[in-house]
Amino acid sequence: MSGGRHIDLYDTTLRDGCQAEDIAFTVEDKLRIAERLDDFGVRFIEGGWPGSNPRDETFFAEAKRLRFKHARLAAFGSTRRVGVAAGDDPNLRKLLQADTPVVTIFGKTWELHVREDLRISKLQNLEVIHDSVAFLKRHVDMVVFDGEHFFDGYRDDPEFALECCRAAADAGADLVCLCDTNGGRLSEEVAAATAAVRQAVTCAIGIHCHNDSELAVANSLVAVQHGAAQVQGTINGIGERCGNANLCSVVANLQLKMGYKVVTAAQLRQLRELSHFVWELANAEPNKRQAFVGLSAFAHKGGIHVAAVQKNPLTYEHIDPALVGNRQRVLVSDLSGRSNILYKAQEFGMDVEELKPAARKVLAEVKDLESRGFQFEGAEASFELLMQKGVNGARTRHFRLIGFRVIDEKRKEDEEPLSEATIMIEGPDGTVEHTAAQGNGPVNALDHALRKALAKFYPEIETVELLDYKVRVLGGGEGTAAVVRVLIESGDGHERWGTVGVSPNVIEASWQALVDAIDYKLYKDRKGHRGKRSPAPPPQAS
Ligand SMILES: [Zn+2]
Repeated sequence: MSGGRHIDLYDTTLRDGCQAEDIAFTVEDKLRIAERLDDFGVRFIEGGWPGSNPRDETFFAEAKRLRFKHARLAAFGSTRRVGVAAGDDPNLRKLLQADTPVVTIFGKTWELHVREDLRISKLQNLEVIHDSVAFLKRHVDMVVFDGEHFFDGYRDDPEFALECCRAAADAGADLVCLCDTNGGRLSEEVAAATAAVRQAVTCAIGIHCHNDSELAVANSLVAVQHGAAQVQGTINGIGERCGNANLCSVVANLQLKMGYKVVTAAQLRQLRELSHFVWELANAEPNKRQAFVGLSAFAHKGGIHVAAVQKNPLTYEHIDPALVGNRQRVLVSDLSGRSNILYKAQEFGMDVEELKPAARKVLAEVKDLESRGFQFEGAEASFELLMQKGVNGARTRHFRLIGFRVIDEKRKEDEEPLSEATIMIEGPDGTVEHTAAQGNGPVNALDHALRKALAKFYPEIETVELLDYKVRVLGGGEGTAAVVRVLIESGDGHERWGTVGVSPNVIEASWQALVDAIDYKLYKDRKGHRGKRSPAPPPQAS
């Protein structure tokens, strides 16, 4: 254990994270993320590289209006160019113009790079590091030196790599950060090299790992055990190539497993939210299998697991999910036992005693439906309706379909196709409603027609929106005759819910899922439904 030593988080989501494929943040996104990082208790926020692009310069100008509670903003850049005095180097000047309390510069520590890339002597490289740090230190409060490729450099020429660190420390660097820039080093190498730097310099040490060997988090933890006081990384591990050390996992492990002080317990409970916030702004689907914060991180599917976690969650959970703002979930599938069904009943606010006699019947129906291609993990609303049917003996009908017709028409080769649906239904008072609607596709048209017809009887249907629609072809080999599964996610501004339909006909499968979506809305409104437990992640179509 650590004796409660404090470890600082240094976030580089806004700089290294932006170098990830498919990830881009606007200046406004970056400002919002910076505020959230501050709320979370991140000590240092690297905002960008002011010398490299105008967007980062704008960010630093705009960031002046942010009022941080804990965090200090860092501007990132490189050591001075060879043959130029530090004071005349345009990039170092741009770093100062960013006007941040912290400046971080990276420099070479791998002899290979010095020889092949910079093509200067080892001594010249030490001068470059020393001059750059000393110049910055005269103008800024805190200077961080990032030793680029430090661990590769240490492996090839340990004495030179250490001398580079010493050059930065002697010039006044407040912290020397050891970088596994290529992400290729193993934990035992990181341990030995970090311990050597600990002996070589008196200033603080940091660690910056990339994930190319999937060891970035492990290597960061090992470095902390060997003396690092600061961990650099990104939220969700986004970054160049395979990414950076994922700070979500770093903070949870340091604090919950290793006993270090990183953030407060209340801040740690914001972890899942912070992770999802960054995915959201990155316009990327959250990784459901992400450790600690993913939707599946505490999801149990096997019946034996479910029975055990109900007796004691520690049987199949490594931590209490609430500590990181996540929650336990129980999935319903053909692997389920009766305990999964009863757990869900409780979660949905249903009377468990009332359901107990029907539980086996519901389970048998779930297994039968799953064998036909249904899947309820992403369709909890369909599943809840199924349980309701189990309790009542029959499904509550809010309307009866008399018939529908969908026409898809493409009149010219270069024209968009047109879809129109006509529908006839019988309302709860026995009157018949006959209506038609258009849409950008057959399902869209059918959805519009159904809601138009029902709005007369149930005005609340107007608030329901179709948020996501997924079609999956099940089994192979049958071509266009194969069975398809449709997952629909709907919402009404308060809650989101998933429903499912299965058929060899994609319109029929969509129809089943649409009817479930509407029935669920009417059922939950009439039931004074308690909804999902807060802070529950919304049900997701998988
Ligand atoms: Zn990096």
